[in-house]
Amino acid sequence: RKTQQNNLDEDAVLEYGSIVGGEEITTGSWIDVKNPYTNNLVGRVASIDEKLLLKIIADTRKTKLTMTRYERNRILNNMADAVEGRIDEISKLITDESGLSLKDTRYEASRVVDVLRFAAIKSFEDDSEVFPCDISKNGRNRRIYTTRCPLDLITAITPFNHPMNQVIHKIAPAIATNNTVILKPSEKTPLSAYYLAKLALECGLPPHALNVVNGPINDIAHELVSNDLVSLVSFTGSSKIGKLIAQNSGYKKVILELGGSSALLVLEDADIEEAVSITISGIFKNSAQRCTAIRRILVHKSLADDYGRRLAEKVSEISYGDPYDPNVDMGTVISESAAQEIENRVNEAIKLGATLLTGHARDGALYAPTVLDHVKNDFPLVAEETFGPVAPIIRFDTLEEAIDIANDTPYGLSGGVVSNHWPSIQKVITSLETGTVNVNEAPSYRLEWSPFGGVKDSGLGYKEGVIETMKGYTYVKTYSLPWD
Ligand code: NAD
Repeated sequence: RKTQQNNLDEDAVLEYGSIVGGEEITTGSWIDVKNPYTNNLVGRVASIDEKLLLKIIADTRKTKLTMTRYERNRILNNMADAVEGRIDEISKLITDESGLSLKDTRYEASRVVDVLRFAAIKSFEDDSEVFPCDISKNGRNRRIYTTRCPLDLITAITPFNHPMNQVIHKIAPAIATNNTVILKPSEKTPLSAYYLAKLALECGLPPHALNVVNGPINDIAHELVSNDLVSLVSFTGSSKIGKLIAQNSGYKKVILELGGSSALLVLEDADIEEAVSITISGIFKNSAQRCTAIRRILVHKSLADDYGRRLAEKVSEISYGDPYDPNVDMGTVISESAAQEIENRVNEAIKLGATLLTGHARDGALYAPTVLDHVKNDFPLVAEETFGPVAPIIRFDTLEEAIDIANDTPYGLSGGVVSNHWPSIQKVITSLETGTVNVNEAPSYRLEWSPFGGVKDSGLGYKEGVIETMKGYTYVKTYSLPWD
């Protein structure tokens, strides 16, 4: 049944056409979305082909947005108010498409509000600079000024794990900087992206500013990534696809936010209770499907027995199951096959010598919060990105060894350290090859507008977060004037 407005009926199966030029376009071909917990069909979105995408790209490229700062600010704040007023509806929608618990999806919706509010604040600002030119013998009586200009057409491709927050991190900075966007959300969790685009239109966004499409990846990826009319490809997802995009995008700007293998270093002087609580919040939120989730816990060998016992005790208290139950901490992972992959990696780690402390039970797409001790850094469980609720303990002897293990990964997104010993903390901050290091805090901690992003296989060093993304979506133009 088609829902024309964003008034979601509890039991309706949602249908969204592609959102193009402010209209919904259906093609007769659909992508189904099932809830991973119930396996019920919860919605479907129109599927487009390359021919239609080419037309959308050409039409969108013709649009030049000229909204004033006042107008951009109003739209962003209107959207923030609207999302804030509909947290129940939005969190239920994200739970429908992802299987994430309502606790997690309510938090996600509140993060979306933050992104919008921060972008609204920043839309008022102007970081122009002035350079007086009479400062050397070669100088002249002039002044050089800078101003930021939009890049114009951005294609944005997002992953499944934070279906709405990843999307708003691409869209809000674009609205704040007068750029047009063609968004391709994950085909696994597209519904909240279409919902958000319709909400943006209701809040006054001009029709061609934001288009949302989906379709068979073999059909549409090529034009989204390599079309010459696109100025920037902004991608969040796996390192494998990110590298493919880097290869295929040709002569254009590319922002890549990719996979991670965050390490939490629990040093010899650490408070074990504190380390356990940081570990739990740093791994299991969002069914551990976060690029910054702790994937390796490096624990000093003198603490490891005690830490492992207490961690296992607390982890076994995490409630997981029906994602629609508001008291449940953790819902499913994205699919049964994803849960099977996690289960297989844990089985393999146990065969290789790891000790199971708790968890490791699977029921469909539900996988129990799991703790393993005596893991080695070359086990595939941690050498590959295992995108699920597993806490693997790797024991170390010296700080140098811990830092070597932490850096012995292709990834470089984030890391954390639990300690109160300043010289060791400082050494960790300076030595970790990551975009973020948090002290006595989970590696995932951030603000929605602080710089965020990784190095090595986690990204090319361009940052996201509202402020950096606004810079990334613009180029600096200089102009100079005579000035006596
Ligand atoms: P994915 O790479 O499989 O898919 C991401 C998006 O890319 C989807 O929309 C998908 O349809 C699209 N895609 C697939 N093949 C493509 C191709 N050939 N060309 C262009 N686009 C293509 O990732 P996923 O499984 O949806 O998400 C999980 C991954 O995302 C994990 O690796 C996680 O670490 C990463 N991630 C990174 C960040 C970050 O900010 N660094 C944040 C969240 C997730």
